[in-house]
Amino acid sequence: MRDQKMYCYTCGTDELHRRLTASEKAWVKNQTRRKSVEDVFMCKAPNCRNLRTGFQKRPFDPILRLPDDL
Ligand SMILES: [Zn+2]
Repeated sequence: MRDQKMYCYTCGTDELHRRLTASEKAWVKNQTRRKSVEDVFMCKAPNCRNLRTGFQKRPFDPILRLPDDL
């Protein structure tokens, strides 16, 4: 899956985002109670790891950042 450049709410700029791994998806499901997290992307900017969906730049309130140790 190719990385996609889209706006990151935390960085305030357009950044590369990638889709989540299986264990990362499981973590997000557990955090958000969402049934589907197939459309969630993570910002690849250094030390950011903020999550968004393809359509919404800020779907989670408060914002969600993926832990490093999944
Ligand atoms: Zn970011």
